Amino acid sequence: MREYYRSGATKEASWRKSQLKALLNLLEENQSEIFKALKQDLGKHHAEAYRDEIGMLIKSLNYALANLKQWMSAKKAKLPAIALLSTAEVIPEPLGLVLIFSSWNFPFGLSLEPLIGAVAAGNTVVLKPSELAPTCSSLLASTISTNLDNKAVKVIEGSSDMGTLLLQQRWDKIFFTGSEKVGRTVMSAAVKYLTPVVLELGGKSPAVVDSLQSSWDRQAAVKRLVVGKFGTCAGQACISVDYILVERKFLPTLVELLKATIWKMFGENPKKSNSIARIINKQHFLRLKNLIEDDPLVKASIVHGGSMDDDSLFIEPTILVDPPLEAQVMTDEIFGPLLPIITLEKIEDSIEFINSRPKALALYVFTKSKTLQNRLISETSSGSVTINDAVLQYAADSLPFGGVGESGFGRYHGKYSFETFSHEKAIARRSFLSDFWFRYPPWNHNKVQL
Ligand code: NAD
Repeated sequence: MREYYRSGATKEASWRKSQLKALLNLLEENQSEIFKALKQDLGKHHAEAYRDEIGMLIKSLNYALANLKQWMSAKKAKLPAIALLSTAEVIPEPLGLVLIFSSWNFPFGLSLEPLIGAVAAGNTVVLKPSELAPTCSSLLASTISTNLDNKAVKVIEGSSDMGTLLLQQRWDKIFFTGSEKVGRTVMSAAVKYLTPVVLELGGKSPAVVDSLQSSWDRQAAVKRLVVGKFGTCAGQACISVDYILVERKFLPTLVELLKATIWKMFGENPKKSNSIARIINKQHFLRLKNLIEDDPLVKASIVHGGSMDDDSLFIEPTILVDPPLEAQVMTDEIFGPLLPIITLEKIEDSIEFINSRPKALALYVFTKSKTLQNRLISETSSGSVTINDAVLQYAADSLPFGGVGESGFGRYHGKYSFETFSHEKAIARRSFLSDFWFRYPPWNHNKVQL
């Protein structure tokens, strides 16, 4: 792959375009197979699969195709006045051979979204999907090898052992989506060759919900909260609403609205609903079950839901009110359909609450108060802030997507993906005509005076 990169083939704009078009083709021609694979591995309904993966990727590919020429163009720059008669520019050059790790919750989205950036920037790429979504992983491997230039783009399937082997190789960049724990392993391995890394991790993303006045606003807010939690891979998303912060006096209204909305979206018996994804595997199912079962105080805090089915790996949308803050459900990323609500005396106390915890990947704020919006934006730190909605920020090509602090670093989507997989090379061009004598030794009194 390195040799192929050195041949220069992947640097051509025509090659980059052809790979983006091949990805579009892959998605269009294999749509029903992709739906089946996502159903098989995650129980995702095809409407959700289209909204979060196929549709999102088609949008990103069209955006990259429309903007590629501009992204690839040299940007004019200036040299200091001492370099009279000169020009300068910044040229984006590909990095070379890059490694992408993806996770299982959006197996197509989180594999192909960074791949779009990597091929748009002219790199050769190895993609390592997660073994926990095996049908999707093998479909990615077979469709990519038949649709894309397989001298330049390869999918390597396997478990963490394969991940370890891949990390022993030399790469020009490692783009990792996954857990904080494995993120640390990736970073340690990258030290050997000083490989730059992007870590797209997770964490606990809070939603601050103010006591909205009109019933229209309240219902819109709760609908977006419910879809941003239970209606997006059953809460198994890095930017899921992890927990809600609310003023104590608004709690009863909020809980009633949440219950009614869950009922509307997933019916009286959500186990029968085809609109809520399943937990990825038994291990994660047990992890979530234990978050509740292992702590009687957490169990006692359930005000809605709580039923689970081991056979179908189903967990009902579950609401907890004020579980102990030191319980695992409030210290670890939940990554499933459990939604704790933490009550506060005043909504402004949310600022202190958020600042006393690791920096989140996303912060959601539901309020019409510009003062509260601006205070939360300026007085807390997170990968992104979304006002009056949840998860939607992921869909924006013009917003950088990434974390800060323990939720990761680096960014992608749209032009940011192209930049993440490019090196901005500084070019300075001088003329032989002009020069200044004081730039050159020997140093003497006159030069020092200057
Ligand atoms: P994970 O860290 O277990 O696995 C991620 C990838 O790393 C997989 O491809 C896996 O095979 C590989 N891997 C696992 N152990 C490895 C090792 N020791 N050496 C090398 N490679 C190894 O994460 P996951 O369970 O797939 O995903 C869940 C986590 O990912 C959550 O924390 C979630 O918040 C985060 N996430 C973040 C984003 C984001 O965009 N920021 C998106 C989705 C998920």
